[in-house]
Amino acid sequence: DQVTTTLPVETYLRRVHRTFSGLKDGAVADYIPPLAAADPEPFGICVVTVDGQVYAVGDSDAPFTIQSISKPFTYALALADRGLPEVRRRIGVEPSGDAFNSISLDSAGRPRNPMINAGAIAAAGLVDGGESGDPAERLVESLGVWAGRRLEVDEEVFAAEQETGHRNRAIGHMLRAVGSLDGDPERALDVYFRACSVEVTCRDLAVMAATLAGRGLNPLTGARAVPDALVTQVLSVMTTCGMYDAAGEWLVNVGIPAKSGVGGGVIGVMPGQLGVAVFSPRLDAVGNSVRGVAVFNQLARDLRLHFVNTG
Ligand code: GLN
Repeated sequence: DQVTTTLPVETYLRRVHRTFSGLKDGAVADYIPPLAAADPEPFGICVVTVDGQVYAVGDSDAPFTIQSISKPFTYALALADRGLPEVRRRIGVEPSGDAFNSISLDSAGRPRNPMINAGAIAAAGLVDGGESGDPAERLVESLGVWAGRRLEVDEEVFAAEQETGHRNRAIGHMLRAVGSLDGDPERALDVYFRACSVEVTCRDLAVMAATLAGRGLNPLTGARAVPDALVTQVLSVMTTCGMYDAAGEWLVNVGIPAKSGVGGGVIGVMPGQLGVAVFSPRLDAVGNSVRGVAVFNQLARDLRLHFVNTG
């Protein structure tokens, strides 16, 4: 371990990349045609520090959709727009133990947390329209502040999410029925589907993760993406709920706040230090990138990422 950490960062990352590039387990998401047609091979690893160093290896500039990695950032914007008490009243913070798309609520009638679809759709419904009156556009803009560049929606993925999103639509209407959403559920669903369909690169995701690590300050642009005081709330739910049904396994093995998406991205945050992103589209049974999980396990060992660092 000590040997690898004395290597220059990029040399070290290149070695990790080489180690796991032969890993071909898992399969690309196939619930919509554009994801099913994705090339399974691209593989990128990117680390960005809070002082703005960027280390990128492999396919760090290949585009893919952010999918559920949008959830912590949607939650952050909902918190910024509505304040903690209102958001807490409407969305819980307990791990669910159910699949990310489960149609369920907690005993108080709220979505269990903002990292599953129900909580993310409720959070999407709390995002303000701002000047344009369009909350989806405002959320896309906000994701761009986190990433340090203007991001765009992949319209083909968005159309497919809209067309096939019956389960999410069911969740939206359930939320409306219990009062977790006001107004037309389609409005929140539009925001949610658009957020999932935003096109990013591994490098973008690492900058977004580094912005969380820097308590909301983008290390490349200096722009503030979210008020400092809200970052703890976001990182806490990522810690307990960010990796779908493998959140417990992740916490034991890796031990840092994280979020994955079915597009093949995974982000991890070392508060005060750095953000990491891995991109590789083949997913395991719970929906996490196989190489992504493998790389983070390796980095956690070599770089001692785990928050309980007992040596
Ligand atoms: N668009 C997907 C859905 O809502 C995103 C899920 C994900 O990345 N887990 O089902």
